[in-house]
Amino acid sequence: MTITQPQPQPQPHANTGALAASARGLTRTYGRGDAAVHALRGVDLDLPRGRFTAIMGPSGSGKSTLMHCLAGLDAADGGTVAVDDVVLTGLDDTALTLFRRERVGFVFQSFNLLPMLTAEQNIALPLELAGRRLDPARLAEVVDTLGLRDRLSHRPSELSGGQQQRVAIARALVAQPAIVFADEPTGNLDSESSAEVLGFLRRSVRELGHTVVMVTHELSAAAYADDVVVIADGTIRAHLVSPTAEVLASTLQDAR
Ligand code: ADP
Repeated sequence: MTITQPQPQPQPHANTGALAASARGLTRTYGRGDAAVHALRGVDLDLPRGRFTAIMGPSGSGKSTLMHCLAGLDAADGGTVAVDDVVLTGLDDTALTLFRRERVGFVFQSFNLLPMLTAEQNIALPLELAGRRLDPARLAEVVDTLGLRDRLSHRPSELSGGQQQRVAIARALVAQPAIVFADEPTGNLDSESSAEVLGFLRRSVRELGHTVVMVTHELSAAAYADDVVVIADGTIRAHLVSPTAEVLASTLQDAR
C-alpha cells in the first residue's frame, strides 16, 4: 500500500476521535464455492474527519461494496466498521437504521428527489420524517453554500440536473451528519454541471467542516477531493493524502 505521508499505525476501534469512519479486516464475499466473489479481502481504512476522500479503482474492484459496508447499508462477513465512534458491526437492523438516519448523509447518482415537493420541502423531508426540528439558520447556511437560495420554491422538474443534485446534497447536509457518502454523484451530469456539483461538495467540506466520501471512477471528479483511496481486487492499494495529479494517475495505472 502506498502512503504519501506518515500515517498512524492501524489501531483497534478505541480512540477514533479524529476519525469519521474506520474499517478493520473487512471482508465481503458474494456467492459460495467455485462461484464465490471476494469483493473485499480484508480492508483496513481510516477516514479522518473534515476531509473530502474519493474512493477510486477499476470497475468491479469493490468500491461500492466498501462504501455500502462503511455506511451500514450492507453487512460485511468479517471485520469491523466504526462510524462517528459507533461500532456498526453488531448493531441490529433497527439500531442501524436509526444510526444512519441520525448520523449519515447519502447522495446518489440518481438524485432521488420527490417530484411533487419543492426543493425546500425535499431538503427538509428527512428531518421531518425523523421528527426533528429544521433549524432555519442551518437551512440558510446550507442553502447559501450550495447556491440554492433562488431555487427553493422550484420543483425538481423545474431544475437542471446540477441544481437537482445540489438539492440532494443540501438534503444530505442539513441534518449535520457525521459523514456523507456520495456514490458516483456526477454520473448523470454533463461536465459543466459535474464541476459545479463537485465544487459545492468541496465547499461543504472546506467551509462547513463536513466529511465527504465519494465513490467515483472519474479522475476529473477525484481531483476535487483532498485524499484518494485506491482499491483493486478487494484490497486497498493506496491511501493518497493530497496527491498531485501525476501521483494519482500513476497509482491508478499500477492498480489496473
Ligand atoms: P465496483 O463498485 O468497484 O464496480 P463492486 O463493489 O460493485 O465493485 O463489486 C465488487 C465485486 O463483487 C464484483 O466482482 C461484482 O461483480 C461483485 N458483486 C457486487 N455485488 C454483488 C452481488 N450482489 N452479487 C454477486 N456479486 C456481486
